[in-house]
Amino acid sequence: MYRFAIRVFGCQMNTYDADRLRTALIHKNWKEYPESAADVIILVTCSIREKAEHKVTSAIGRYDLKYRNTNSPIVIFVGCMAQRIGIKMAKKFACIKLVSGPRHLGLVPDAIEKVLKDGKRRFLMDDDPRELIDLEVVPTERDNPFKAYVTITYGCDRFCSYCIVPHVRGRLQSREHNSIVNEVRTLVNTGVSEITLLGQNVDAYGKDKVDGYRFAALLKEVSMIEGLKRLRFTTSHPKDFDEDILEVMDENTSICPAINLPIQSGSDRILQAMHRGYTVEQYLSLVERIRRVLPHVSLTSDIIVGFPGETEEDFQDSYNLLKKVRYDVVHTAAYSPRDGTLAAVMENQIEKKVKARRLNDINDMQSELTRELNEEYIGRELEILLDGRAPKGAGLFQGRTNTDKVVIVKACEEEIGSFMRVRITKGNNWSLEGERI
Ligand code: SF4
Repeated sequence: MYRFAIRVFGCQMNTYDADRLRTALIHKNWKEYPESAADVIILVTCSIREKAEHKVTSAIGRYDLKYRNTNSPIVIFVGCMAQRIGIKMAKKFACIKLVSGPRHLGLVPDAIEKVLKDGKRRFLMDDDPRELIDLEVVPTERDNPFKAYVTITYGCDRFCSYCIVPHVRGRLQSREHNSIVNEVRTLVNTGVSEITLLGQNVDAYGKDKVDGYRFAALLKEVSMIEGLKRLRFTTSHPKDFDEDILEVMDENTSICPAINLPIQSGSDRILQAMHRGYTVEQYLSLVERIRRVLPHVSLTSDIIVGFPGETEEDFQDSYNLLKKVRYDVVHTAAYSPRDGTLAAVMENQIEKKVKARRLNDINDMQSELTRELNEEYIGRELEILLDGRAPKGAGLFQGRTNTDKVVIVKACEEEIGSFMRVRITKGNNWSLEGERI
């Protein structure tokens, strides 16, 4: 029996991968321990932004200093960053004993055992972007017993010019729908109330196959699984968001009316340079159709400021677009060049201080807008799924509405994981306050 610790950096897909690794190791009779008492520390890493990679690099640097002489615990380096620069990092840090790309996860549990037995370093790199050696495990060992993620697609074929995902996670590969449905059913049978279907671009689900079974069909089939209370999905792509997805959402009340629809820029010129495949007008027309079919939908988005060549005018277009659409939440980021992408070698890279100023401006405006939208919730009666303790305040807990709004409410420990009806009493910048009805 070995002892492991696991750390996740980055997105929900990494959380899903970490949960599956944890479950697979526990099935092998391993036990999860704090890092200092573990035989291996597994790092599930992210490459999306430079900042995410810096965090991992400094964590590995610290482990190397601390454990260099004892040779234990060893570091297992998996995920996007491992695929991108894992070999280079292993040359620098002796504590790294296994490097694996995200498409070799299925080999990782056995490979860790081999490393522990013979001490030899191993590299499981994703050389073929269409190869997938998946870990066929239902992630039953999770931090949250009531909510679970299920990945439905791996990789992405869109090749947006700024994005590292297709380079490190490979081409689009949709999972077999029966395997997804069975996984969700198993999770629901173990007490999960809320499932989030994950993919870099969930709307592209099935477009790499010839059987015509697409995302709308999957959404419908999963939403009808008995016992599943809430179904979410992320992320959508405006170019692949087909009309029948809306129909299915409209007809099935277990599908949460919440859509993350990244716009990325409000300027057609920049959208074209980003290779996003739509114009602002096409995007706005999709938003209008979504709101017509689902009037209470919560719309969230992602936007990048300071993309190469972004002028003040382009930036103003993004700023004004956010004001016009009035998203519930926007995930904002200053453009960060990723080696190997087209945008990284484009001319007219924007100065750091300009990017920082644009980011501040857009964040200030969006935070004000979010507060206004949250205040519109005051007096409404809603159902929340209670998640856990609120970050501060004695006796305060937090839950989420089906539109993914965080609500702070008085409750008790035993109620975590249950649904509660609340009346909204206050709207803050990033959350609502409510009282139990
Ligand atoms: S669709 Fe998303 S994941 Fe795919 S390349 Fe574009 S930004 Fe990256």
